[in-house]
Amino acid sequence: MKLVVDASAIIEGFIPPGDCEVIIPSSVEDEIKNKGMDFLVYRVLSPRECFVEKVREAARKTGDLDVLSKADIDVISLALQENATLISDDYAIQNVASVLGIHWEEIHQQGIKEVRKWRWRCESCGRYFSKYYPQCPVCGGKLRRVKSK
Ligand SMILES: [Zn+2]
Repeated sequence: MKLVVDASAIIEGFIPPGDCEVIIPSSVEDEIKNKGMDFLVYRVLSPRECFVEKVREAARKTGDLDVLSKADIDVISLALQENATLISDDYAIQNVASVLGIHWEEIHQQGIKEVRKWRWRCESCGRYFSKYYPQCPVCGGKLRRVKSK
């Protein structure tokens, strides 16, 4: 499974499952290296311009373009290009990703974020998803609807 992870997720301590390939754009690599967080095994890949344009267009429509950094745009573009799962706690990133049909997940950090938008939970691996899938995209388990907090 491919994961694209944003800089704040890495800085906040997101640890990818061992069987996942982590891909990040160079703009995110710069950010985490600046913070001395260069401990993850990852592949650096730059999104192609056509994907960046698609993301900018979507962000313009949702009104999120102004709050997204270049690294944020790169992260979303890369997830779109690589058909990867996006890991981010940033609402603007999540919003644009949703519009583009990108599967995203939040970092699991109970009590830190006050608003939860999760609505589906895998009965096998316990992951939360913002939308329904016939089966868990991660482990193939059954999804169950849970109350948003
Ligand atoms: Zn699962």
